[in-house]
Amino acid sequence: MNPVPGASVGAVQAALPLDPLENRILLCHATGLSRIQLITQAERPLSDEEAARLEQLVQRRLNGEPIAYIVGKREFFGLDFAVSEAVLIPRPDTELIVELAIERLPAQGHLLDMGTGSGAIAVAVAHSRPDAAVTALDLSEAALSMARANAAGNGVQVRFLQSDWFGALQADERFALIASNPPYIAAGDEHLSQGDLRFEPAGALTDHADGLSALRIIIAGAPAYLLPGAWLLLEHGYDQAEAVRALLAQQGYTEVQSWRDLGGIERVSGGRRSP
Ligand code: GLN
Repeated sequence: MNPVPGASVGAVQAALPLDPLENRILLCHATGLSRIQLITQAERPLSDEEAARLEQLVQRRLNGEPIAYIVGKREFFGLDFAVSEAVLIPRPDTELIVELAIERLPAQGHLLDMGTGSGAIAVAVAHSRPDAAVTALDLSEAALSMARANAAGNGVQVRFLQSDWFGALQADERFALIASNPPYIAAGDEHLSQGDLRFEPAGALTDHADGLSALRIIIAGAPAYLLPGAWLLLEHGYDQAEAVRALLAQQGYTEVQSWRDLGGIERVSGGRRSP
């Protein structure tokens, strides 16, 4: 693939080797043209610089790098999130836990997002629920800088804490809801060496153990930080719902249940701290 300088952007677009959506995204990124301008200015020639830039972008994609890292952003819950290799790319699946949290968080309630990464859950909830107070924590400073930028970029206030799970919280803090999308892929799972996951931070994907160790820590620790009757909501892997419900039940949570994502997979499980 050599985008020919001087050829029209329309002709270049048709000749790019990726799928049509990715061709368009990278061509827009290389030229600064919007999706609409790409249509209305299809005859405009590609400059030498744009051709060189485009060739690099396409090569990165051909090497397997996720498109979100190449362009540095991804849409989630209707909002723009900046992303880099420091954070997991927000997934459409994760919109489910955001919706469940928005429905269950009481008016003026204080939500905690544990392992916020790009800030996806915290920022999306804060954006939909201006009445809420939102705290988000992560072990990674690099992730927290990205999450801070995403809160600012979407015009919301979130309190950020660098913390190893509950470590940096005050002993007397109580939340009206705790939500988390923790690392839940088991060590050695073949998916870790496939597709986009190869480029994502391992610490955001895997617990380096059986896949449930972060979920166990959160389930065991959360009651001390939840108000009576408050919800804990956890995203987990496609085959973990039963195990997560069992852990919640063992720890005395009530109304333990799971919810399915758009693909019909039990993707989020939760329960309430007993009153
Ligand atoms: N949902 C991600 C995936 O399967 C994993 C995210 C996570 O471990 N929290 O690609």
